Amino acid sequence: MSNIGKLRQSNNSQLASEIDSLGVRAKLRYDLEAIGLSSSDYGNIVKEIPSAVLFPTSIDDIIELIKFSNECPLPFNVAARGHGHSTRGQATAHNGVVVNMLSLKKHYKNGNGIKVSTSGNYADVGGEQLWIDVLNATLQHGLAPVSWTDYLYLTVGGTLSNAGISGQTFLYGPQISNVLEMDVITGKGDFMTCSRDKNSELFYAVLGGLGQFGIITRARIILAKAPKRVKWVRMLYSDFSLFTRDQEHLISIKGLEYLEGSVMMDYTPANNWRSSFFSPAHESQISSLLKKHGIVYCLDLAKYYDDETINSVDKEVEMLQKGSNYIPGFTFMKDQTYVDFLNRVRRGEITLKSKGLWDVPHPWLNLFIPKSCIMDFNAGVFVDIIHRQKISTGPLLVYPTTKIKWDDRMSAVIPDEDIFYCVGLLHSGSFSDSQDLDNQNNEILEFCDRAGIKMKQYLPHYKSKEEWIKHFGSKWNIFQERKAQFDPRMILSPGQKIFNAV
Ligand code: FAD
Repeated sequence: MSNIGKLRQSNNSQLASEIDSLGVRAKLRYDLEAIGLSSSDYGNIVKEIPSAVLFPTSIDDIIELIKFSNECPLPFNVAARGHGHSTRGQATAHNGVVVNMLSLKKHYKNGNGIKVSTSGNYADVGGEQLWIDVLNATLQHGLAPVSWTDYLYLTVGGTLSNAGISGQTFLYGPQISNVLEMDVITGKGDFMTCSRDKNSELFYAVLGGLGQFGIITRARIILAKAPKRVKWVRMLYSDFSLFTRDQEHLISIKGLEYLEGSVMMDYTPANNWRSSFFSPAHESQISSLLKKHGIVYCLDLAKYYDDETINSVDKEVEMLQKGSNYIPGFTFMKDQTYVDFLNRVRRGEITLKSKGLWDVPHPWLNLFIPKSCIMDFNAGVFVDIIHRQKISTGPLLVYPTTKIKWDDRMSAVIPDEDIFYCVGLLHSGSFSDSQDLDNQNNEILEFCDRAGIKMKQYLPHYKSKEEWIKHFGSKWNIFQERKAQFDPRMILSPGQKIFNAV
């Protein structure tokens, strides 16, 4: 029996003739290639086989599919798949239909789902668009979004379903704080435009909503004048408290456009796939430093500039660095175009792909840690678990951001402290050691529990409903109510395993 036959029969064979009459029928694929590509993701850990994959050529195709599922006595699941860069199967649909959002990209009448407003204040962008394309299209008008992710080959719908964070978040908030309006197809198949003033419940539900309430087909993204170039500075620390003190100071003053940070360990090189910032000479200098200290912390800051500010930028960078407590002599600077700076992770991706090291397991763990616990976290996790075990070779990110830039009405969940740290343990594993890395992740989570660290997972992944309830905390009731309102038959994004434990 064909997969569509199974899909029909598993739900209601009487509906077989109806599915045959659907307009989208010809856009559903059941072949091994389509199914295989939609069964997994960047994480390379989870495999969930859908029954079919929809390659929509219009928004109406998605509406028709979702409405049809709702009409079935036993509806089938539907998952939008952006660029499939989740790490735990969040965009999969076991026995359901995966909607290949990128397919929409090819079918826009003007060949491009990105429209910059005449006022220049915003762009209307298809949910299926990659951020790199948004950047390139808006730059043609001298404009750009203000809030980014470190890596740009992610879809607008995919990052807005989480939050979208990077070194600009402390200043502008996450990407979800920079959306004015959206078009959404709800889990009932209703097409709705929403904003803070119109259908606001849907607007707040969808932003950070893990794909549970609707499929974003358009987002109106805030734009600002784009700078031309960037001074990107790194400062190295051996003392974590000085490192975090400087980070927190820098996000509290005016003048900075970007701040991140990372942890370097003596058993890995100073550069990693995500960043080849240091020259070979600097790398060997840093390797001696790592030998001496075991762990070194790296603060990243960036100052944007253009023709008008070219003469003052160096002075401004100097002012920003003034009073910083980095190890004397261990500060480094790069001068790059704005595009190269924003697109900095792409080079690493291309190198890894050429070595066959991109499609390996990625048992990532991303956490938000309250500022009050970050010293305990460093001692318990970076020093006592990661450095002691020496199995994690991926980038280890740690940088502070500010709660005030997040809107609590949105579904995204953050710790209840004015400043909290974004921690990214971006492990790359092999098929033999990924379980060890996952065991390490579990140890880290257990440590946080034992130490009373009230952290929240970012890009969350849980195995039981109880854990989800704990994750959402006081937001759980509203999350559930919104689910009942916008996706009452619980068909959307089952791979998140919030309402659809498999
Ligand atoms: P997918 O993985 O395809 O989907 C993610 C979820 O969103 C799924 O549940 C899916 O069903 C749902 N979804 C997809 N499209 C839509 C839509 N249009 N409407 C509603 N729901 C939808 N994140 C950051 O915040 N900052 C970073 O710096 C960052 N860097 C990264 C670097 C790399 C190399 C990778 C692999 C990931 C990174 N991420 C980062 C994580 C990334 O933002 C999320 O995994 C995001 O979901 C990926 O986008 P995607 O388009 O691949 O989404």
